[in-house]
Order: sequence, then structure tokens, then C-alpha cells
Amino acid sequence: MSITAEPRNPAADSTATTIGTHPPVNKFETFDPRTNTLIAEIEEMGSAQVEQAVDRARYLAGAWSALTYKERSRHLLHVRDRLLDSAEELVDTICAETGKQRAEAVTTELMAVCETIGWYAKNGGQVLMPQSVSPGLMAHKKAWKRYESLGVIGVISPWNYPFTLSMTPVITALFAGNTVVLKPSEVTPTVGLAIGKLFEDENWGDIVQVVTGGGATGEALVRSGVDKVCFTGSVRTGKRVMAAAADSLTPVLLELGGKDPMIVCADADLARASKGAVWGAFQNSGQTCMSVERFYVEETVFEDFVERVLVETAQIRQNASGGDIGSMTFAPQLAIVEDHIADAVSKGARILAGGKRLDQPGLWFEPTVLVDVDHTMSIMVEETFGPVMPIMSVKDSEEGLRLANDSIYGLNSSVWTSDQQLGISIANRLEAGNVCINDCIVSYAIPGLPFGGVKQSGIGRVHGPEGLREFSSVKSVMSSRVTTPREMWWFPVPKVLEALGIASARARFGTTLATRIKRFKRTT
Ligand code: NAD
Repeated sequence: MSITAEPRNPAADSTATTIGTHPPVNKFETFDPRTNTLIAEIEEMGSAQVEQAVDRARYLAGAWSALTYKERSRHLLHVRDRLLDSAEELVDTICAETGKQRAEAVTTELMAVCETIGWYAKNGGQVLMPQSVSPGLMAHKKAWKRYESLGVIGVISPWNYPFTLSMTPVITALFAGNTVVLKPSEVTPTVGLAIGKLFEDENWGDIVQVVTGGGATGEALVRSGVDKVCFTGSVRTGKRVMAAAADSLTPVLLELGGKDPMIVCADADLARASKGAVWGAFQNSGQTCMSVERFYVEETVFEDFVERVLVETAQIRQNASGGDIGSMTFAPQLAIVEDHIADAVSKGARILAGGKRLDQPGLWFEPTVLVDVDHTMSIMVEETFGPVMPIMSVKDSEEGLRLANDSIYGLNSSVWTSDQQLGISIANRLEAGNVCINDCIVSYAIPGLPFGGVKQSGIGRVHGPEGLREFSSVKSVMSSRVTTPREMWWFPVPKVLEALGIASARARFGTTLATRIKRFKRTT
């Protein structure tokens, strides 16, 4: 897990192989996308190192899970103190590897994580408390469920929010009594290593192990025998993770990509909707899984909306010294953005703003607005993950809803209207795990609200009670209230059981003729 700025030395590697004492150390480089300069060389870990990390995490798993919820909370709050003590340094690390603006890193990475730690420290114990369950027919029994830790959780995270999307599953898994092996993105490994440092502690240092490397390291973690994998990343890789996990039936939580729609109704507050739209499309340079990536605007307000969007877009400050948006993070993603724009233009789309890289070193791409778009273009159906805003005119909100649902994705979504009832009606029919009415993206900032996707946007939830229980196993327990020599249905089966069974079923579930007639009338 060492960070070194020294250039790779293949000769030293081969000597090590010849002597046979150490295996060769493979390294990969990480860059500052604002300037394309080298940050560090990082070790590419193989399956042996991944397995070692899992073993160390497993060694501590029993002792960690034996702590009370209060004790686990105290440790997590201590980690939050450390995080705040090193906030400036962490922001430097995040911005250097992602190209984000500092304020964006503070709000969406540090604040979001602090909030989530606080939510679980306050509510987590209640969520995981044993709960009694009505015994129903078995009136002489008592029943309850209890939540138990799973063991070791493998967390694999992406580069777009390298701190939040690593820390959220890590702290949730820990609160639920598990230990963790984290594999951060190879694009943002120093953020992952900084997370490892936050957890360094004399007694509990190994509850979070960090393994660095690319896809092969990630796959080694999936195949390492961990008790669950929490993967955040693209649909393509998510499918590979699920396939690899299937070999050992390792459970997976998948937080995948999106193509989030925004529906703007004719009665929307256009001043707010246009400002919200521009923020939703361009914050973090469009590299948020919940970025608004396609816009359906009712035709009567389409022109007004587009004009307002262009005014807002023209005011965006994009520079390395404290503007509104930073650079993009990953060169291959920028190439996808350019491909999608070229495909759309070749099929008749018009660029009204932006459309090209900034003329300077680094991964800077102008905020881009497109119209005359439709679903034959990749920009309306595939995840673009860049600062691009394709706006389509629709006859009415129902057509907007139909097109919004015409997608393999279903992560977040939004509807903008002055009519709360209409907003709720559309929200209820949007095929997405999350919906915002007159807002976008920020539902993720409410840690009590479960977050996740439907369709190919994922399986499972993070945040909220559902998110915590994802990292637990529920055990159902039944016990007798009174001890009797035998149960009535044990062998030899008594002759009266059949008659008694029918009589008690009638007594318990039978309805009078009058009730049957009433029910029949209600259903016809
Ligand atoms: P990615 O799928 O390329 O990589 C994600 C992680 O998977 C990385 O750590 C990578 O090293 C690892 N990986 C690659 N191949 C692997 C394999 N075969 N087995 C195991 N691990 C492997 O994604 P990315 O480019 O880092 O991130 C961007 C994507 O993530 C976008 O699609 C975005 O929408 C999605 N995302 C989703 C959410 C969400 O919460 N739903 C949040 C953020 C990002």
C-alpha cells in the first residue's frame, strides 16, 4: 500500500524475482486530471495479497462483531473526528485525483460521509434490534428476528465520488458488525489509501484493509471468499462481478449506472427548473451516477426553458482556481462524451452551447447543451457521464413519462411542476429507485432514505434501515412459551387432528354469509 513518486524500476523487479525472496512489484500510475501530471505510483496487488487482507479482516471479525452498537458507534464517531481533523488534506487528495472543485468535494464527499456516520450512530442500533413477530397459528410459541453480521465485506468503489462511495458502504458494513476489505478505483487509489489511514488504530487497524489495483484485483476480491460484495460502478463491470460471485454464490449489492431523466411540465416554475437542470447536468462535470442526463420538456414551454438554460450555462465558471465545475476525471470517459456528441450531431442534433474540450492541458470539457435530440441517439439512451445536457421537446408530460421510462436504467429521476398532485402521480409512475419532485440528485444527501436502482441500475440499497440490513443476515428464532411433552402434530398423528384442524381453521378464518355477500358486492 505504499505511495511512491519514484519511477518504476523494472531492473529492481527482475532482481527480486531472480533471488526469489519477493515477487515482482507491479505498479500503476495515478494522475491529476486538471493538469495531466503524475501524482504517484501505486502497487497493483495480486490475489495472494487480496487473500491476506481478507484473512486479516476475518481474524478481527469475531471480536468486532462482539462489540455493542454503542461501542461500534463510538469508534465510527472517532473516525469522523479524525476525518474532520484532516479535512483540508483529504479535500486536497480528492481534488487532485478527480479534478473536482474544492467546495464540491467538501459538500458531496466530506459532509455526506459525516452525515451518514451520524445517522447510523444515532439510528443504527434501533434498526438492528431484535424484533418480536406475531406467532400467528402457533399461539403457544414466541418468535423474533435478530440481525447478525455477515463476516468480511468486499467493497469495490468507482472514481467519481471516491471518498463517499467507499466510505458509505465501509461505515455501514462496520456498523452492522462486519470487517471490510476495500478496493478503490485504480483512477483514485490515493483517496482509498487515505481512507485506510483514517481507520488506523492500535487495536482495530485491520477492520478496514485497503487493496490497490485494477479490475484483476477487484475480481480477486470477489473470488476471495468474502461474505458479501458491495460493488459501485458501471453496469458492464457489475455484470462481471455478479458472474464471478455466482461461482461461490457470494451475495452482491450492486450500485450501477444511470441515465436519469428530468420531466419539465408546462406549469413548472421555469426559473427554478432551468437553474436546477443546469446544476443537475453539470455538477461534478456530469460525472454523478444521478446526473440528469436527458430532459423532456413540454412543447409549450420548451423555447422559454432552453433560453433560460443557455443564460445559466453561459454563467458557469470553469477553471482550476475555485470555479463552479472542475475538470473531468478519466480520459476514456471524456472520449465517450465526445463520441455521444458526434453521434447525436450526425443524426441531426444541434449544439447550442459548448461541445468541445477547453484549449489547455488536462481533461476540461465545456458544459454542452444540445437540442433536436431523440432516442435513436446514444446521448439519449446510454450513460454519457459528462457535462452534457440533451433537451427534447415532448407533446405533454405523459409523453415525457413514457420516454423517461423507455430505458434500461432506473436510478434517480425528477419531475418539475407547480401541481403537487401531478408531481406525485408522475413520481409514482417513474421506473426508478429514487425520484425528486422540483429538485434533482440531492435525495442521496438524506442518509435515512434508502438509495439504489431498479432495472439495470442495480440490486439492493445503501442508506437508511434497508441499507444497514443489506450488511446483515436476519436470523428467525422460534421458542416455546410453555414446555409440553409433545406437539399435537408429532407422531403418532392423533385421529382427531383432521377434524380439529378443520374446526379451528373455520373458527379462525371463516366468514359469515353476510360478510361473503358484502365482499362479493364490493368486488363486482
Ligand atoms: P467501473 O465499473 O469501470 O469500475 C468500478 C470498480 O470496479 C473499480 O474499482 C474497478 O477497478 C473495479 N473493477 C473493474 N473490473 C472489475 C472486475 N472484473 N471485477 C471486480 N471489480 C472490477 O466504473 P467506474 O468507471 O469506476 O465508475 C463509473 C460508473 O459507476 C458509472 O457507470 C456510474 O454511473 C457508476 N456509479 C454508480 C453509482 C451508484 O450508486 N449507483 C455511484 C457512482 C458511480
